Amino acid sequence: MNSPRKPIVYLLIIIVYLLILGLLTGATIWMLLSMDKKPESAKRMKITVTENRIACNAEPDETRRTDSLLLANENYPLNADYEPYPMYNTCGKYSQFLSYNSQDMPLQAQAYNAFLEMMEKLNAQGYDNLLIISTYRDYNKQSELYNSDRRTVIVTDEGREITDIARPGCSDHQLGLAVDMQTSVGSKENFDTTSPGQWISQYGHDYGFILRYPEKDVNTTGVVYEPWHFRFVGIPHAAVMRNKELCLEDYLDFLRESRTVDVQMADKKHTCFQIIYYQPNERVLVPREYSYTISGDNRNGTIVTIKYN
Ligand SMILES: [Zn+2]
Repeated sequence: MNSPRKPIVYLLIIIVYLLILGLLTGATIWMLLSMDKKPESAKRMKITVTENRIACNAEPDETRRTDSLLLANENYPLNADYEPYPMYNTCGKYSQFLSYNSQDMPLQAQAYNAFLEMMEKLNAQGYDNLLIISTYRDYNKQSELYNSDRRTVIVTDEGREITDIARPGCSDHQLGLAVDMQTSVGSKENFDTTSPGQWISQYGHDYGFILRYPEKDVNTTGVVYEPWHFRFVGIPHAAVMRNKELCLEDYLDFLRESRTVDVQMADKKHTCFQIIYYQPNERVLVPREYSYTISGDNRNGTIVTIKYN
């Protein structure tokens, strides 16, 4: 009875099977194609939990991200479109700090907060004649300066050409982390002979600021001695740099070689930090229970700074 219908049933099963197979193949090809097309920015961070640390891939949680250790120099320039974020205007808060040509003196938020704290302390010392000459400069502004006739180039004893105005992309100012200062009665060149200049040289690291271009490091930094230029790197990093007398270039080499550096601050709480350097393509580990920040170094390394108390 059933035998005449059997070939039709088999045919239907084969057709349905082929349809399903076709659909599955089509869906797989579509998924693969759409994955390739996905833009970089749309890729989500992958986090996996290990024993007591969280591993994250190259893009850290944005709220933990700081660019405070990014290099910006001749060997490691910033992209033209690099912009710090978020930015605050120093002059809005402290109108007694004058500026040369403009009231706009923006700094990246972390540098801004640290700078204001430092200024409050400086004012409490009775130093009230500080001028902020320059803070954030974008790539185009740096190009204007670089191409102006104000730039001087000096050849050092070791034969290296050093400049007083950095090439576009090679300036700390594009990071929004640098402040140039002088007193209202002095020049920027003699800032290190003034009381505020000496105070900032001595105590700036307590607020995370370093003298970015020391006289002894011109061959490493490629920039002339700039007693007026201070750069925010963060408190534990500034402490180690000062303690070991390292400029930023040498400090990042030191981190790359050391891998892990423990820092105990001389503050009342004896705050402890651990600084961990990760090579490019290494899995970055961050703590689950302690506060931390992640910064790149503009050389494909990643630095995690953990605060323990
Ligand atoms: Zn500067």
